[in-house]
Amino acid sequence: MHEPPDNQRAYLGAVERADGFLARPTVANVDTQTLMANVRVVQRAVGDGVRVLAVVKADAYGHGAVRAGRAFLDAGAWGLAVSLVEEGVQLRAAGITAPIVVLGGASLGSEPMIVACGLQPVVWEPGHLDRLAAAARAADTRCPVHVQVDTGMGRLGCLATELPELLDVFTERCADALELAGAMTHLACADEQDPEPTRRQLAGFKRALETFSTRGLDPTMRHVNNSAGIVRATDAHYDGVRPGIALYGFGAVQDVHLPGVAMAIEVESRLVGVRELPAGSGISYGHTQTLTRDSRLGVVPVGYEDGYARSMSGQAFMLVHEHRCPVVGRITMDTCMIDLTDVPEARSGDLVTLMGEQGSQRIDAYDLARWAGVIPYEILCGFSKRVPRR
Ligand SMILES: *Cc1c(COP(=O)(O)O)cnc(C)c1O
Repeated sequence: MHEPPDNQRAYLGAVERADGFLARPTVANVDTQTLMANVRVVQRAVGDGVRVLAVVKADAYGHGAVRAGRAFLDAGAWGLAVSLVEEGVQLRAAGITAPIVVLGGASLGSEPMIVACGLQPVVWEPGHLDRLAAAARAADTRCPVHVQVDTGMGRLGCLATELPELLDVFTERCADALELAGAMTHLACADEQDPEPTRRQLAGFKRALETFSTRGLDPTMRHVNNSAGIVRATDAHYDGVRPGIALYGFGAVQDVHLPGVAMAIEVESRLVGVRELPAGSGISYGHTQTLTRDSRLGVVPVGYEDGYARSMSGQAFMLVHEHRCPVVGRITMDTCMIDLTDVPEARSGDLVTLMGEQGSQRIDAYDLARWAGVIPYEILCGFSKRVPRR
């Protein structure tokens, strides 16, 4: 019979031992102490009686959902919120037993899994109620749901005019199998200068709550505020708040930064080469930049496949030996170059900070967002799976 050659067996042996093998020096360090401190800052801002529903969707904004989720709960968060059912299942599989709200709702066919994992989906259509109730009955249990009212986001939720019918369906057909765990809405403009849209949404939510109470329905938890709302709409914390970006140390924009929260992730790499190139050399694809002086360039094993956006070419900086070094030429898929001419001590193998601090120098998600023309959320979620979180 056909025997694998010896070297193939050797290769397979090596690969079996390769779990967690890391060759490339590009990594993200996540500081769980800072995540815990941020939850406490949020809790202090909203007051003790208000539940913190820590938003860990999108792998906790790139910080690692399981580890971040545990840190938030350990530091006093009441529960976690995810976008997808899958994200909730992942947290349950990791042994997290706290309440988990699924903000994106019960996608069709996921109802039995939602019930089995004890997730709390957001609902806004009669069909959601019927299907979840059927799944709960089949499992001989009750499913907690959060009714979302769209007060001016134009995304998920039912309109105030549709709420009476939805609540009638709840009362008449589903009350045996569902539990009214929450009533919620989502603010569209809490991070904008003009307070008027938020005021209108909050007034709309207040009226919606009356629709609940005139039917004798009393949602256990009323929740509205995202991070920007926690800063700006301090009269609307209700029973719970849903901070995301604030827990990761940022605001949607800098002027809604919750004082006291701090960046909890640091992305770094190491120089894989230092090149001496003469003035006049064209650098990287398209020669978008030509050296104006004899230069030392550092080669960094980071590219757009890591989430280091190509649109930052010619804009971004990285830190080496506490210097801000400009990225030179186009960022490529796996690699980019930085100008080290003013950092003569830099050597191949030296530490490069893409996001984080070196001495008095700092690059944060606001800087990267400005360079890339995006928002801090996109920067945090944007570092790809290829960058291991430690
Ligand atoms: C993402 C999200 C949040 C958290 O928003 P931040 O701006 O990151 O605080 C809160 N609620 C809902 C419904 C969301 O989708």
